Amino acid sequence: MAEDPYRALGVSKDSTEAEIKRSYRKLARQYHPDRNPDDAAAEERFKSIQKAYEEIGTAEARREFDERKRMEEMFRGGNPFGGGNPFGGGVDLGDIFSQFMGGRGSSQQGFSRHPRPSSRRPPSRSETAKGANIESGLDISLEQANSGTEVRFSHRRLRRCERCNGTSFGTSRGCTACNGKGVQTKGSTLTVKVPPGAVHGQQLRLKDMGHEHPQGEPGDLLITLRLDAEEGRRWEEGRLIQEVPVPITTLLLGGKVRVLTPAGKKIEIDVPKGTRIGDRRRIQGQGYSGSPLDIEFVLDEPGELTDAQAEALNSLRETGL
Ligand SMILES: [Zn+2]
Repeated sequence: MAEDPYRALGVSKDSTEAEIKRSYRKLARQYHPDRNPDDAAAEERFKSIQKAYEEIGTAEARREFDERKRMEEMFRGGNPFGGGNPFGGGVDLGDIFSQFMGGRGSSQQGFSRHPRPSSRRPPSRSETAKGANIESGLDISLEQANSGTEVRFSHRRLRRCERCNGTSFGTSRGCTACNGKGVQTKGSTLTVKVPPGAVHGQQLRLKDMGHEHPQGEPGDLLITLRLDAEEGRRWEEGRLIQEVPVPITTLLLGGKVRVLTPAGKKIEIDVPKGTRIGDRRRIQGQGYSGSPLDIEFVLDEPGELTDAQAEALNSLRETGL
């Protein structure tokens, strides 16, 4: 199975585009062939980083990747259609899914738990057919989240066919515009109103802006807000993690480090003796808008060593450290 690009880039599914870019640049630098000549392992890692970035590095590519993943997850464990492809060959999986599974059933996955043996027959009006919802993410800055904002948002969705107005759907009557699907994929641009005080992970529902159904109700557009965590911070499943660089001597001997919180406040934190890289601490009230902030201790990598430092390290080595 292909490597998960989020994992390859060391970011979580709810990270913003800026976070993905930062993480990519850092890793690409670290594993770059120029820095690791003739190192097959580094080269392989470098390639997987590149590939992952192609998959989720731009908003458009990422949207496609996420959508494809969502489909794959829904289809795992059997074909929910039960009766083969009702449209015949050459149809986009997403389109079929949207039309047949969209929001009709009661199950979370959007399709009935007990599909009829033959689903070749399209849903009739009385079944209150509904187009599928579309899920997407929207990146905003902290300032935008605090003050509220309006953002132009473009996405592709199924619209009812202009020529046949959806009436050719499920009939043998061919419509040259939609091939009897009753819908066509089109681009839509709309304005998303982000309310003041928006939080990371908040979902906005834009009614009827999802996929349209040839005969039933349109689905909704569900937009999940992602706040840019800014340099040195990242989201992990809705939780804000801030990396705090600590010098090696402070990790070993204990001490204090200063932390600049997302609210711009400087606080001092105790680093206990024997702290390890990756250790975490939760600080109440110091995250975005009063939420908790999780800090993770990372190594403050020393640059070029001074002569005195090199000498001191050499004598440390003699002690067996
Ligand atoms: Zn048509």
